[in-house]
Amino acid sequence: MEYTPTQRATQTYQILTRLSPANISFLTQTDPFQLLISVIMSAQTTDRQVNEVASVLFERYPTPQDLAQADIELVKNIIKSTGFYNTKAKNIIGTAKALVERFNATVPLEMEDLVTLPGVGRKTANVIIGQIAQKPAIIVDTHFARVVQRVGLTTSKDPEEIEKEVAKLLPPHHHYRYSMTVNLHGRQICHARKPLCFICPIAQWCASFPIQ
Ligand code: SF4
Repeated sequence: MEYTPTQRATQTYQILTRLSPANISFLTQTDPFQLLISVIMSAQTTDRQVNEVASVLFERYPTPQDLAQADIELVKNIIKSTGFYNTKAKNIIGTAKALVERFNATVPLEMEDLVTLPGVGRKTANVIIGQIAQKPAIIVDTHFARVVQRVGLTTSKDPEEIEKEVAKLLPPHHHYRYSMTVNLHGRQICHARKPLCFICPIAQWCASFPIQ
């Protein structure tokens, strides 16, 4: 049966929300500064890896002021296992400095401010907007993009376009919850290789069912 993208989004929201834990977070940090730095470090690596590195990093540099003054070689050494550590070290120290110099050492909660920070794109900004500011946020990472493409909510491969298209399909107060439940679904069932279509709770609403 052919459904509209709005029907698919609405139904998958209902099912995934019902089946998922009330609070989903993949990174353990709850402090806004530490969460922001962790999300910057999470590019191209696993959340488990980031969580391991973050505990060492924040024990040494718990605040924006501490990290802004850090020795870059020491920081590189701590975060090395997350990959791309030269760029990440530069970005996280740069972000800490920018917070101190331009935002009174606090994390801004608006998209237009967040994306001015080194290493912060829309995905990272939306994590902060959703989790810390508790405002509508569609967080497009690799898991989210894969699932919404397969389900049939978008044909775009561009993260910003995906964000806009999915945002139009659901009321704003469902955006963040949808981001997190879809992300979890992508990690647990709708795997990049060999998705588990035959045990998938949203199969009925998925335009790609079944992927063999
Ligand atoms: S039916 Fe398969 S492709 Fe569709 S969402 Fe479920 S696991 Fe993913």
